[in-house]
Amino acid sequence: MTVAADLFPGGVNSPVRAYRAVGGEPPVLVRGEGAVVWDEAGRRYIDYVGAFGPLLLGHANRGVVEAIHSAAEAGGSFGVTGPGEVRLAQLIRKRMPSIERIRFVNSGTEAAMSALRVARAATGRDLIVKFDGGYHGHADSLLVEAGSGVATLSIPGSAGVARAVAAQTVVAAYNDLDSVEALLESHPGHVAAVIVEPVAANMGVVAPATGFLKGLRELTERAGALLIFDEVITGFRVAPGGAQALYGVRPDLTVLGKIIGGGLPVGAYGGRADLMDLVAPSGPVYQAGTLSGHPVVMAAGEAALAQLTPEVYAGIEAQAARLEAGLQVRGASVARVGSLLTLFFRERPPRNFAEARGSDVKAFAQFFHSMLEAGVLLPPSQFEAWFVSAAHDAPVIDVTLEALA
Ligand SMILES: *Cc1c(COP(=O)(O)O)cnc(C)c1O
Repeated sequence: MTVAADLFPGGVNSPVRAYRAVGGEPPVLVRGEGAVVWDEAGRRYIDYVGAFGPLLLGHANRGVVEAIHSAAEAGGSFGVTGPGEVRLAQLIRKRMPSIERIRFVNSGTEAAMSALRVARAATGRDLIVKFDGGYHGHADSLLVEAGSGVATLSIPGSAGVARAVAAQTVVAAYNDLDSVEALLESHPGHVAAVIVEPVAANMGVVAPATGFLKGLRELTERAGALLIFDEVITGFRVAPGGAQALYGVRPDLTVLGKIIGGGLPVGAYGGRADLMDLVAPSGPVYQAGTLSGHPVVMAAGEAALAQLTPEVYAGIEAQAARLEAGLQVRGASVARVGSLLTLFFRERPPRNFAEARGSDVKAFAQFFHSMLEAGVLLPPSQFEAWFVSAAHDAPVIDVTLEALA
């Protein structure tokens, strides 16, 4: 790893990969198949990182690999709209009807940033409400109190963000409608949008309290602000129609990424047609991307979504529930929504980031390393979700629980 340390800041191309929260050196992984990954020395691990979210079908899924192969054989990006983009967009809209129109981009960061631009254009307002511990990528205006990666490094947001930009973002407490109402009331006519992870998954997993998302819908409507669901993690993971289907709340705009790229770099934002029609070239909001809607990425995403049938979701739910039931660790508690799960080193699952931060991160680091030694690779931070995939079948869960013992 010394070569990587010399080439990349902290030896990595994304901070949480550096294992700063748990200490030690990350394994050098060279191969993955299904629920299993192998390091350079040929050691195998059961993997709950799942590339931090995209791999709902596990590593090297046959259908996805074949789709990537044939799309690559057919040539690269042609700089015009292609059939792959159309097919993936149709699959997404069928599952998420609130997305009347969509724009593909290359990362969740880009998608969230662009959705905010649309919200500001639509409302003529500047302020954004986000939640403490909510992560929406690393665009300047969203790097305020931003959860896992940032929390792991214990830096309050980020250096290099202009104060004037940061001042346009105000922060509420997750699962606390009063805190949102107070912000909307103290900035009347100034809030363009409330952006939320409908299931918080970047402070560890925190489920929305009963009525929280519906309450956000009502409060934003009353204040003339838009409601943006960041479903980069939850989209097509917690239910076939994402969190908005699971909880029955229709946002104005939705941000997607991860799963819809089948493991390749992707993002998308979409929603009400009147809002999306503000985007260039049909409207005045400029947003572009040389490789957006790349045929290889679209093919991978389509192959992934096509395999995600209700039966597959039911299977994942059953195995994730078995894992939850078996995860009995002294002084710890489990939070789970579908295939998203966190073992919190505190007595009860937290309701917000302030409570999540009260977890015993030293105990987590110790647990992480004993599981690694036993051949189970967990996300290297208390504040990251474990990702169960369709490849985590009953035997895989059994081996995981044996490792726990
Ligand atoms: C990962 C993530 C993003 C950012 O996506 P990138 O592709 O890493 O830029 C945005 N929102 C949420 C909820 C995420 O988990």
